[in-house]
Amino acid sequence: MGLDAARAKMVALATLSVLFFAAFSACADTIVLKNGRRITASNVVEIGDKIKYETSAGELTLPKSIVDHIEKGGSVAIAGAPGGDAASLAITPPAIASSASGNEIAQLAVHDGAVDRAYIAKLEGQARTSGSSAEVPAAVAHHAAAMFELAHGDMERALADERTALTYAPQEPVLLMNVAYLHLKRSEYTQSLDYLERARRVAPDNPDIPKLAGWSYYGMNKMEQAVNEWKRSLALRPDSEVQAALDKAMRDKQEEESYKENESAHFTLKYSGTAEPALARDVLRTLEVHFAAIESELNFTPPDSIGVILYTQQAFADITKAPGWVGALNDGRIRVPVQGLTSMTPELSRVLKHELTHSFVGQKTRGRAPTWIQEGLAQWMEGQRSSENAASLAQIYSDGHASPLGRLEGGWLSLNGDQAAYAYAWALANIEYIVETDGMSDVERILERIGSGEATEAALQEVLHSDYADVSQSTAEYLRKNYVH
Ligand SMILES: [Zn+2]
Repeated sequence: MGLDAARAKMVALATLSVLFFAAFSACADTIVLKNGRRITASNVVEIGDKIKYETSAGELTLPKSIVDHIEKGGSVAIAGAPGGDAASLAITPPAIASSASGNEIAQLAVHDGAVDRAYIAKLEGQARTSGSSAEVPAAVAHHAAAMFELAHGDMERALADERTALTYAPQEPVLLMNVAYLHLKRSEYTQSLDYLERARRVAPDNPDIPKLAGWSYYGMNKMEQAVNEWKRSLALRPDSEVQAALDKAMRDKQEEESYKENESAHFTLKYSGTAEPALARDVLRTLEVHFAAIESELNFTPPDSIGVILYTQQAFADITKAPGWVGALNDGRIRVPVQGLTSMTPELSRVLKHELTHSFVGQKTRGRAPTWIQEGLAQWMEGQRSSENAASLAQIYSDGHASPLGRLEGGWLSLNGDQAAYAYAWALANIEYIVETDGMSDVERILERIGSGEATEAALQEVLHSDYADVSQSTAEYLRKNYVH
């Protein structure tokens, strides 16, 4: 990210006596721009003259000069960022037509703040013995359980329950759409489309099907198809959510039509006509090399093609609506300003690898990776090491001022520029210690567990048999032993 420049300020840390971190809000914050636009974001942090924030798909940065103020707190973290990815869009799952008996079953399946598994098992038993007439209640009960789990953020169970519901009512369009919806929330666009196609065969005129299909295509960067689906949905039923999404997709499409396109095995690259074709080929070649390296390090292959856009500085500012922006960003697609560049440079290669790491980690953990792991690993992958900061970091640790890793999982809002520089450096040091001591395969297993919903510290306990305090202490020892003489 452009803001990883904050690392350079690490030198200033020696003069800092106290690095206390205030309590962090788990809620989303709202960035209010001077032009009135409001961006819902998490992990908002002020670094120098920039505001850095997180969306579900990656980081964005705004120049502080265009920000009016930041409102702390909010309900859910839904990315309102330009190009925010499909999974983060605020869409409600299609509702099942309610009936008196259906409502009663739903109330018996979920009550007192929990899913009643015994009741559901009873319905399943009846479905097995009594045949098709008893299958609908089992489907309704599993669907009710899935909606409860979705509301509580447990995507894994929600998907399992919705899939089971579907086994009892395989032709029910609402269930097919809800399975598709849950895949969408997990950025699994291809699977989502499979279920939507099945739903379309049963209910060709249901406006929710093209609505969700549009989101799938949008997530896959297939703007043409996204636009077609959303137009179809609007023709069937007016919907302000769809209208807003369509307008945005049309803007993206128009801008990108003037762009040339290249493809490689894992990337779709677009670049403006004024950029050098040779540079575009270089970027793809470099990205494929980085892809192979990260793929084997993390033992993970992102399922869908990754979108990359090379911009001239002006187009970048227009499309991202962030004038004065410096640096790359990753909002689901990797966006890189390349004004004036004609061939690959070591700096551009480094930036590409950093951004690509965010894509891998984001997809592998389904957007659940804490900030310290995202930034620590992205810096590690791009080749950063702790050498120049080791002495300061070790000193801060032995003075008792090191930041607990738990405080670096989420929002960095209360950090000033120096503290953020420290957070980047400390995140790198902890990842470096883990990789150097236990190997990247342990990092991979940690990411795996985070992806399946485990808390980060619990994942460290399972894989490394160390809690956050142990890891930090070992990190400080590692820094002293390897760098401080
Ligand atoms: Zn980054």
